[in-house]
Amino acid sequence: MLSDNHMHTQYCPHGSDASMEEYVKAAIGKGLKELTFTEHAPLVIDDPTPENDSAMSREDVEAYINEGKELKEKYRDQVTINIGFEIDYIEGKEEETLEFLKKHSDLVPHSILSVHMIRLSSGEYFCIDYDKDAFLEKISEVGYDTLVSKYEDTLYKALSNPYGELTPKTIGHITLINKFEKAYDQIDTIDWVSVLEYIKEKGYQMDYNFAGLDKPYHEQTYPPEPLVKKAIDLAIPLRFGSDAHHPDEVGRYFERSLKK
Ligand SMILES: [Zn+2]
Ligand SMILES: [Zn+2]
Repeated sequence: MLSDNHMHTQYCPHGSDASMEEYVKAAIGKGLKELTFTEHAPLVIDDPTPENDSAMSREDVEAYINEGKELKEKYRDQVTINIGFEIDYIEGKEEETLEFLKKHSDLVPHSILSVHMIRLSSGEYFCIDYDKDAFLEKISEVGYDTLVSKYEDTLYKALSNPYGELTPKTIGHITLINKFEKAYDQIDTIDWVSVLEYIKEKGYQMDYNFAGLDKPYHEQTYPPEPLVKKAIDLAIPLRFGSDAHHPDEVGRYFERSLKK
C-alpha cells in the first residue's frame, strides 16, 4: 500500500500547525509513492461546533491550492501529489456546495465526500464527531435511534450523486457515527451491507480510514474489518486514508491493512 489519500494540513483549524511540506516529507520518509491532500472545504453553513473549527476558511482556499501545486512540482521526482478537498455533504445545502465544486471542478476527482453534519428535525445541524460528551448529550436529547437513522438517511443522500457529475466519488469514513460507540450501550441498527451494496451500485470508491484506530471510544478502522472484507468481496475500490491531522500520522497503520 503505497498511497495515502486522506490528509489534512495547517489550513485545518482543528489540526496541527505543521506545514503541508512536512506532510510530504513524512510521506516520502514512509516510502509512500503518492499522497492526496484533502483539506476540509469551507462549510456552507454556520459551523455548529463550539469552537467553529470544523473546516478551513474561504480566504485560505487559494493559498492551500497554490501551496499544494508548488509542492507537487518541487517533489515530482519523489512522490505524486494530488490536491482535493474533503467535502461535507450538508443536507439542504446541495446548491451551495455545488457552487463551490463548480469553482474547483479540477480538484473533484481527488476529493472525498463525508458526512460529519446531520440536520435534525428542529432544522439545527449537529456535528456527529465533535466530541463524546456532545454526542452523549445529543443522544439524551433526541434519542439514539433518531440520531442513527438520520445519519443513515444522510449517508444515502451523499451516495446518490447529489451534485451530479461534480460529486466526489469517494465516500469518507462511512461508520463515523460509531466514533464514540464504547461510551454507550446501544448497537447501531444500520444495515451496513446494504450501504456497501449501494456504494457499489452508485460507483463510489470507499475511504479505508485508519484514524478510527486512534480514537479511544472506537479503536477500529472506519469501517471495521468485517465490512472492509465485505467491500473487497464486492470489488468496491478502496482508497487508503490516514486522515492525518499531523505529519506523524501520515500512513498510520497501513501495514495492518487487509488489502495490500
Ligand atoms: Zn479534520
Ligand atoms: Zn472527515
